[in-house]
Amino acid sequence: MLKDLFSKRRRYATILSEQAKKEIPEGLMTKCKQCGTITYTKELKKQLMVCAACGYHFPVTARERIEMTLDEGQFFEYDSDMVSKDPLGFPDYPQKLKQDMEKTGLHEAVITGEGTIKGYPVVIGVMDARFRMASMGSVVGEKITRAIERAIQKRYPFVLFSASGGARMQEGVLSLMQMAKTSAALAQLDKAGILFISVLTNPTTGGVSASFASLGDYNIAEPKALIGFAGRRIIEQTIRQELPDDFQTAEFLLSHGQLDMVVHRQEMRDRLADILDIHAHVHAERRGK
Ligand SMILES: [Zn+2]
Repeated sequence: MLKDLFSKRRRYATILSEQAKKEIPEGLMTKCKQCGTITYTKELKKQLMVCAACGYHFPVTARERIEMTLDEGQFFEYDSDMVSKDPLGFPDYPQKLKQDMEKTGLHEAVITGEGTIKGYPVVIGVMDARFRMASMGSVVGEKITRAIERAIQKRYPFVLFSASGGARMQEGVLSLMQMAKTSAALAQLDKAGILFISVLTNPTTGGVSASFASLGDYNIAEPKALIGFAGRRIIEQTIRQELPDDFQTAEFLLSHGQLDMVVHRQEMRDRLADILDIHAHVHAERRGK
């Protein structure tokens, strides 16, 4: 009997703490995934979604990224109505697209457009990992390609924030083709002498890391971002070797020469403006000669 009493009490206590949890209105506080520190979401947003205690970079939406990168009120969006079709008749694909559209308020996994960073005009693309894990479907590839073509026409530097789970399974080879298409467009941009800054955010994997995300004149990453082609487990199984703990992190890639910089989110806008400033001067000098 005594035992029963204790077990009931324990159950009661558990229920209470569950209720207590619910009393914190959802979204008011955010718990850091890395260190567990709880911060007011409002405060966290002011810190650009970086944990003040440990520096963990929370995922941000494409709209938030545009807001924290571009000058206020300076964004003009391209191709916002472009939506994916279901070319292979893949089961449930149209429904999944619809669900992600409702969940994110986006039409696809990338937003493209133009704006200014501290007064420097740029064409910008930002991928959003909430939409089909920012996998590269035909619309993602097409929007990025069109953005690059506009950067060539306008002679504006191109800045792309990538985040991706890789190819879009449901579009098969049409998804893989986007790697070649975007890379070809970037070759044209390069020929035209226009700057491309690629910023890789957590996670940038698969076909995106193996195409445009790695083709920047500058390849920059956010701290601790996971960047790689194949997943860790697949590589370990293939080569039958254990990989280092920090394998496929931004810091590992920087120390092995695959990245130019790892930049804290709170310094990103300043750093981008510095690079744009240097190149604006170089171009002005060239024109002068
Ligand atoms: Zn933290």
